[in-house]
Amino acid sequence: MITERHLFGPGPSNPYPEATDALARPLLGHLDPAFLAIMDEACEMLRTVWGTTNARTLPISATGSAGMEAAFVNTVHDGDVVVVAVNGLFGQRMCDVAARCGAEVVAVEHGWGQPVDVDRVLSAHPSPAIIAAVHAETSTGVRSDIAALGAGKGDALLVTDAVTSIAGIELAADDWGIDVGYAGTQKCLGVAPGLAPFTIGDRAFERRVEKPRSWYLDLNLLGGYVGEAGVKGGGRTYHHTAPVAMVVSLHAALARILDESLPAVWARHEDAGRRLQDGLEAMGLELFAAEGWRLPELTTVKVPDSVDSAAVRRHLLEVHGLEIGAGAGAYASTVWRIGLMGHNARPDAALLVLAALEDALAQAG
Ligand code: PLP
Repeated sequence: MITERHLFGPGPSNPYPEATDALARPLLGHLDPAFLAIMDEACEMLRTVWGTTNARTLPISATGSAGMEAAFVNTVHDGDVVVVAVNGLFGQRMCDVAARCGAEVVAVEHGWGQPVDVDRVLSAHPSPAIIAAVHAETSTGVRSDIAALGAGKGDALLVTDAVTSIAGIELAADDWGIDVGYAGTQKCLGVAPGLAPFTIGDRAFERRVEKPRSWYLDLNLLGGYVGEAGVKGGGRTYHHTAPVAMVVSLHAALARILDESLPAVWARHEDAGRRLQDGLEAMGLELFAAEGWRLPELTTVKVPDSVDSAAVRRHLLEVHGLEIGAGAGAYASTVWRIGLMGHNARPDAALLVLAALEDALAQAG
């Protein structure tokens, strides 16, 4: 994904230095009332970006993958049928994680670059305990229709991966029927990697596993960490030492995002992605993700025949200070992934990538 060499650096190229500046502040103690107030506010702001009123909404102290594990380890009972929509790497990972939690996984495979086929997923099993899907597949640059899955889920719980969608494109957990959602901080939230914003509704919590096979991610125990799992006014008990600097940084980023307003932040991502994708097509390049389902924050583009993918990426990094990603899985050398997320979701960043890529391709040719 595209970044300046300093991912979230406070240099002149980042107009939103709040999250990074917060990391440099003197540390508060993890039980200092001032920190507890920041944690409470961060949970409250997370509810807003998730589009939920779920009391149990909190930043889990680990990366997005831990959010995925927390989702499954707390909700999968032995032998439960879990239908997973697989249209990229992270859907595949969901299958692995759910299976390790004891699920009988029904994987509904899709071609990479395609959105989730809602009808196929909903008809894959007559009575699944859980239906799971990735909202924004980072491996392919594709958005899927979570609202339609929620509308048709029946009695199943809907688990949603919002790692690359949160604060980048519209996300409405309650309206869409998301029962369990997890995300990450390092994408459109513009915070360093290290936390997994997590939310679980009452219906899912009531069906939770009594003694999950994870101590650290057991929501029963995590309850006290943020005051009864984010329940406002709930009692607090020691569970683990909060990564104070990360939570303060997340708090700063959320405050800034809500100050800009979520619709404005989504529109900024949409505008930057549109400029980039239009520009790439104007250069004669072919986009990889299915039309109509392209993520603005993560653009996938086919590497032209006869172009050395790695050489272009190296040129961008070394000459222009821009990092774009290789493709994932089977597309490692035939697709590029270009992220315009968080502070990089700006027209000037899109134009910079286009100009630099044109230069890199000229060198490669
Ligand atoms: N899900 C998606 C869609 C992702 O893009 C990622 C990471 O990029 C993850 C899950 C895993 O998150 P992490 O790498 O923060 O553990």
